[in-house]
Amino acid sequence: MSNAAMIIVPTDIREKVREIEAAYTRYLAEFRIPDDHKIVVNFSAGKDSTTTATVAHHLFGGRVTNVMADNDNEHELTVEFARSIHEQIGCAPVQIVKRVYTDAEFERRRQSLRDRWPQRQAIRMGAYRGVVMPSLARADTKFGQAWQRTAERWGIEFDTPLSAALSVLRPSGNSFLDAALLHGKFPMMRDRFCTDELKIQIAFDAAIKPLLDDGEVVVQWSGVRADESDKRAGYARFASDERDPDYLYNFLPIHQWSAADVFALHKYFGIKPNPLYTQGASRVGCMNCVLSTKEEISETAARWPEHIEKHHAWEKKVRLASRWVHWMSVGTVSQAWMKKFDLPLGRAVQLYGLEPDVQRIEWSGFYGPRGTMGAPSAMDVVEWAKTGRGGKVYDLVKASLDTAVCSSRYGLCE
Ligand code: SF4
Repeated sequence: MSNAAMIIVPTDIREKVREIEAAYTRYLAEFRIPDDHKIVVNFSAGKDSTTTATVAHHLFGGRVTNVMADNDNEHELTVEFARSIHEQIGCAPVQIVKRVYTDAEFERRRQSLRDRWPQRQAIRMGAYRGVVMPSLARADTKFGQAWQRTAERWGIEFDTPLSAALSVLRPSGNSFLDAALLHGKFPMMRDRFCTDELKIQIAFDAAIKPLLDDGEVVVQWSGVRADESDKRAGYARFASDERDPDYLYNFLPIHQWSAADVFALHKYFGIKPNPLYTQGASRVGCMNCVLSTKEEISETAARWPEHIEKHHAWEKKVRLASRWVHWMSVGTVSQAWMKKFDLPLGRAVQLYGLEPDVQRIEWSGFYGPRGTMGAPSAMDVVEWAKTGRGGKVYDLVKASLDTAVCSSRYGLCE
């Protein structure tokens, strides 16, 4: 008979916390870190960062600051949890920081579009290499007239794509949407500007840099656990941080803990975890993450459909800021032009002998390509997520997501 249920008992948690204390003391000596250093816990409102904040407070009390970067794509219960967790732990309130994009940043982007979109632009990579995109600032060209049908379909009234783009390039009051508008797309696997700009950079700028500027030595504690992904397993438990290697360090106190250990600690200290766990979420934090799995997307669509609708409303704005989506939205017309276009240097269109399918792209989608869909909307993805396991393509996507979702070493998003 398995005695797995007997493994997690309060005495084990005491032992595990003692192990963290002993290991931390060794690291401080090894890295010659002064005793009066500052401790900053990266808090995401998930179970791992709640555990980390609890252990840090238990061992070091008032010397600990908890910081959470709210990227405006969190579930409201997550933000509420972050605002009230100090009452359960007995620590100071979590410092909640946010990246705010200014009108000056949007004005720079608007000016860049005013300079570039009226010009024709050659595509330099991919299957369309060599094709020249037309001006997106003229209504009197074939493209401009064809785009009017796009505008009709999208229910917008603008003369040109440039006018449509300029209309949305203003601060919206939501940081996640603002980042997507400025980038002209949503974050994706290989370009996670949501984590970089809205989590890591702002937490550093708002909570850590001021301490470093004051000459303090800072150790960041993060609730990263090895069994979440191969990438996370590869992180050292203690290391200096390349952003300021002599003064800033990273410590992963629960690196070897299991999820069961983490919930056992909640029980041991009498802390109720983020309520989203008891409502069926396997991860909390962004609702949803752009890299969410098929299961998570159908879970959200069933339980919190308002978040899917919010993302779809964002998609209607972000596509207006994308040159590629405007151009590809005319579909058939683009393809016909490609075949007879007078390319620079007399080259043929680089389609490598393939007859291209006629494509029409309508979205810069929140979830990126899914299944066999190259540019689906959030609504298309929800329909796809309702279907059974989609065979090979699905398995490959899922396999890559399992190891890639939010694998930042700072554990700022769960
Ligand atoms: S959870 Fe996903 S969407 Fe949210 S910041 Fe992390 S990578 Fe981006």
